[in-house]
Amino acid sequence: MGDMGDPVEACVVGGGPAGLAAATWLGRYRRATVVLDSQEHRNRWVEAAHGYLGSDPVSPTALLDRARRDLARYESIELRYATATSAQCSVDGLFSIRTADGREIHAQRLVLATGVRDEFPDVENFFDHYGKSVFHCPSCDGFEARNKAVVVFGWSAQVASFSRGLLDWAASVTVVTDDHPFEGESDHRAELQRLGVHVVEDAVDELCGSGGILESVRLRTGGIIPCARAFFSIAHHQRTALAEQLGCELTEEGAIAVDHEGRTSVAGVYAAGDVTPGTQYIQVAAANGAQAGTACALSLRDEPLGRPDDDHDRPEEQPVVGGEQRDGPNLA
Ligand SMILES: Cc1cc2nc3c(=O)[nH]c(=O)nc-3n(C[C@H](O)[C@H](O)[C@H](O)COP(=O)(O)OP(=O)(O)OC[C@H]3O[C@@H](n4cnc5c(N)ncnc54)[C@H](O)[C@@H]3O)c2cc1C
Repeated sequence: MGDMGDPVEACVVGGGPAGLAAATWLGRYRRATVVLDSQEHRNRWVEAAHGYLGSDPVSPTALLDRARRDLARYESIELRYATATSAQCSVDGLFSIRTADGREIHAQRLVLATGVRDEFPDVENFFDHYGKSVFHCPSCDGFEARNKAVVVFGWSAQVASFSRGLLDWAASVTVVTDDHPFEGESDHRAELQRLGVHVVEDAVDELCGSGGILESVRLRTGGIIPCARAFFSIAHHQRTALAEQLGCELTEEGAIAVDHEGRTSVAGVYAAGDVTPGTQYIQVAAANGAQAGTACALSLRDEPLGRPDDDHDRPEEQPVVGGEQRDGPNLA
């Protein structure tokens, strides 16, 4: 479906919570859709994600498995494990999306749900602990750090507010700048001092502990900081390569600019999830995806490609008695 000569109505790039939610609603509207996913969803390292309504905690991998199973019942949706390498608008008004396996998809609409790429500290045993006792988002994993000793890796001025946030839960916070000079001004240092946060300008050599249970951080100069959790505040980058190829407007922070229905500045291109501005939660990504998928599906109403059962008799739409007739969800 969707390869040369056989265009689809929509192509969703990204099979995380945002992309699968968009695909679900495209499927419910019976839009012929190809979903491309390179299977690197952001929290694949995590055993338990928190705060998702009705499933708190939940394994993010299990949640996506369930979403893919649910999606399989919509016959107009095809999920392909492939990486989109380029996207452009072709002369016939279709989007042309090339994948790393050499295929090309032609689609009337495009939904970008490509997420972000996190930067990680270069520390021994980091990936033994990441997602178990080492995290980057205090909102997502701070509650589980309550009454525990926490180390923060980071050196920017922002580390001051990051540490203050963690003290909503943590018993203590120690900042380790990983061999960088602390970039904050004197008032940032004063704020950290006021909060009782010690700043250690040293490199981290190793995360100590086994089975993902963090016990301490060993510094290059030999010091040991006992702790049960570590958080890092370094950087992440929205995956916007396809959006940039298409000429979509980005925000100053590097996210894809969208309106409240997920429309980008390029007609026919939608975006949802962490690649767009806003809070980076699974539930928010899924909600954005549902909104963008629905808006995308509705935008195709007057441009049908033709569906297999379109010839079947369909009941005439009846006005809603006692109220205003709507075309679907209120997307105004
Ligand atoms: C350590 C950690 C812990 C977290 N804990 C929580 C938590 O407890 N609760 C919570 O609500 N949130 C949590 N989050 C945040 C949550 O992971 C994100 O908000 C959510 O995954 C965003 O969903 P998304 O669909 O936008 O992006 P992603 O989940 O990152 O999915 C993007 C998908 O797009 C694919 N993709 C990217 N580029 C391409 C391409 N060119 N072609 C094909 N496919 C592509 C990727 O492979 C990936 O599968 C956590 C994040 C991290 C890193």
